[in-house]
Amino acid sequence: MIIVLFGAPGVGKGTQAEILAKTLGMFHLSTGDAFRTAIKNQTEIGMVAKSYVDGGHLVPDDVTAKIVEEAMKTHGVSNGCILDGFPRTRIQAEALDAILSGMDMAVTHVVNLTVDYDTITQRLLARGRADDTEQVINNRLQVYENETAPLIEFYKNRGVLRDVHGLGTVEEVSARILSAVQ
Ligand code: ADP
Repeated sequence: MIIVLFGAPGVGKGTQAEILAKTLGMFHLSTGDAFRTAIKNQTEIGMVAKSYVDGGHLVPDDVTAKIVEEAMKTHGVSNGCILDGFPRTRIQAEALDAILSGMDMAVTHVVNLTVDYDTITQRLLARGRADDTEQVINNRLQVYENETAPLIEFYKNRGVLRDVHGLGTVEEVSARILSAVQ
């Protein structure tokens, strides 16, 4: 299974991806975490990514696709993979198809976590990560609307999209996600 956890910033993708990966024994790949690690370690990719992440903008597609391809090839995805924060653009979705088809695989489920924007903004402000200031949150929500949300239609047309209500306790939401992928 190749599961994409999809949704706006602050919807709970990271928390749920971690739980789902543990429950199903799959590799969890978060592009946000990968960029934060690269920035912390001051790698070449980290240097490129820093200004985008700090400003709440998307890191360029070619850089992002490269980090995903390398991680997937290093870890292997034959036991399945939970993608968290990728793809976020049409070009990334097509890059993902290309990476997976080279491994004779394809996206099997896209879990679209839905939470209203007021709740999301409150959650992000409370989390207080470096890119969780009001201005940067607004940028990230705008980027989500413009670049990422159109992928809902793209995956719906393929019949792999599952909408999951993201409000409730962490346990309630993970139970919903689990039943959406089984
Ligand atoms: P959130 O979902 O709350 O925005 P993430 O950790 O997923 O948090 O992402 C943090 C930042 O990392 C994004 O604002 C963006 O700059 C960068 N990033 C993460 N994933 C991608 C991606 N697929 N494409 C481009 N940039 C990304």
